[in-house]
Amino acid sequence: MLKRDGIAVKRLLVVFGLSLVAGSSLMLLPASGEDNLKRKMDRFAPIELKVDLTSLPKAEQSALAKLIQAAQVMDRIYLRQVWPGNPALAARLEKDKSPRGQEIWQYFQINRGPWSELDGGEPFVSGVPATRPPGANYYPEDMSKEEFDTFANSLPEAERQKATGFFYTIRRAPGGGNRLTTVPYSDEYRQELREASELLKQAAGLTQTPSLKSYLEKRAAAFQSNDYYESDVAWLELDSPIDVTIGPYETYMDELFGYKAAFEAFVGLRDEAESRKLALLTQHLQEIENNLPIDPRYRNPKLGALAPIRVIDEIIVGGEARKGVQTAAFNLPNDERVIREKGSKRVMLRNVQEAKFQKILVPISKIAVASEPRSLVNFEAFFTHILAHELMHGLGPHDIEVNGRKTSVREEMKELYSAFEEAKADISGLFALQYLIDHRLLNLDRLSEPAIYATYLAGVFRSVRFGINEAHGRGMALQFNFLMDEGAIAQDPSNGTFRVDVKKMKAATTKLTGQILTIQAQGDYAKAKELLDRLAVIRPAMQQTLDKFGDLPVDIRPVFTTANQVAAGK
Ligand code: ZN
Repeated sequence: MLKRDGIAVKRLLVVFGLSLVAGSSLMLLPASGEDNLKRKMDRFAPIELKVDLTSLPKAEQSALAKLIQAAQVMDRIYLRQVWPGNPALAARLEKDKSPRGQEIWQYFQINRGPWSELDGGEPFVSGVPATRPPGANYYPEDMSKEEFDTFANSLPEAERQKATGFFYTIRRAPGGGNRLTTVPYSDEYRQELREASELLKQAAGLTQTPSLKSYLEKRAAAFQSNDYYESDVAWLELDSPIDVTIGPYETYMDELFGYKAAFEAFVGLRDEAESRKLALLTQHLQEIENNLPIDPRYRNPKLGALAPIRVIDEIIVGGEARKGVQTAAFNLPNDERVIREKGSKRVMLRNVQEAKFQKILVPISKIAVASEPRSLVNFEAFFTHILAHELMHGLGPHDIEVNGRKTSVREEMKELYSAFEEAKADISGLFALQYLIDHRLLNLDRLSEPAIYATYLAGVFRSVRFGINEAHGRGMALQFNFLMDEGAIAQDPSNGTFRVDVKKMKAATTKLTGQILTIQAQGDYAKAKELLDRLAVIRPAMQQTLDKFGDLPVDIRPVFTTANQVAAGK
């Protein structure tokens, strides 16, 4: 369940997720279009992404330089995928050196097109369509859904699968009247993919890490053959200091059908310290499960294997990953066949999360959190809680029995499932950290209980800011109001800030964890609904605080400092 963590959605724009796009109160800016461009841009706080490469052997550094170039090829493909007019428009905007022209060019680069993502996709360049074509540049602009369906249904099964598959565009056949035809990505983007393929092969020749070499060779072949299966499997097995994800992945931009994949790249360095911490947390999961505050018969005596999680520091991204709100974690692949046979993998971008923490969470905490707990808010506590959140999705009840009937929590909770499950992961994540601290299994300076609670409190406001229509925000509102009602969080009437009572917090965290897990174990939809209806709301004290956030940035605008240095041969 990513996506702030929303794993339910394939890619989690962790923390600062898709919910933004769904229209929440925070991005309401007066006026529209070309006005306020500066203000629109300032919603993305600039930050330099620097990664220390000194521990990386020379051969890996040389491979990295090739991968950075390959990521940039993804930029060019993606530009074409958005809209047919995009490459020519980009070339024109880049040439306009007037201050106004440069501003537009900059904002175009953030959005990777002339439509502003945070403003419901409204255009900020004159002379372009009022909205991005819903089928992007995957289908002919004049094609209707009905026309496509008729076409696809007329095809033999193998051909129909291509037409509705990830890696084929739909075009009008040349000289074939108005007939639709299916074009493999390897033909559609032939020149770019040849170039990317060549760079991946060169990187594969340089690296001394076998799993990286294998992934790069297989992905280079996939770019030419259009068959991504082997390279998706090799990606799952990737275990290397340089971590790379490159190719066509997410299908969000295909708003017609959700079939077609956009090209993107993530290139990063494995974070050894966080990987060790993750291993430590993982080691104690069964013990935490055995001590969950629920009736012992609801506990799982033997946890299954968990999907692997990798923690990396981002060096550069390319293609769709460069656009708008920056991805802080993702879960891939999307190919159901690969998932069924080999599973999936989660990648967490530690330094991106840290940038968001510094630029957004810290300013939020200055407004919402009382001064004494605020001094304890820190990134280590923030990130460790996110790791705990992700791991806790794997604990607690999943397959359950209701009146002798075998079923699952997901089935019984229906439309409440996501918000309830996100609330569970958050609060039981706190419970897990408490448990580890109590049993002296987690000894880190900045991870005291008061620091974890203070940081969690600031995080509540960050999540709720995106609105309670989205699972994470809704789950957070539930927790916040429960903790308020228990006296674990209290508001200072003199200035409206909030603080936590550590002792009550501990008890209330355990209590809420127990309540949610028991409702899940019993598949009790009515109780879940009662809890959400009563508590997953924005009460006036919360609303007044949200109103004070005003112009605080919504996301970050990374400058890839280390990548630029590597590319320049420094
Ligand atoms: Zn989650």
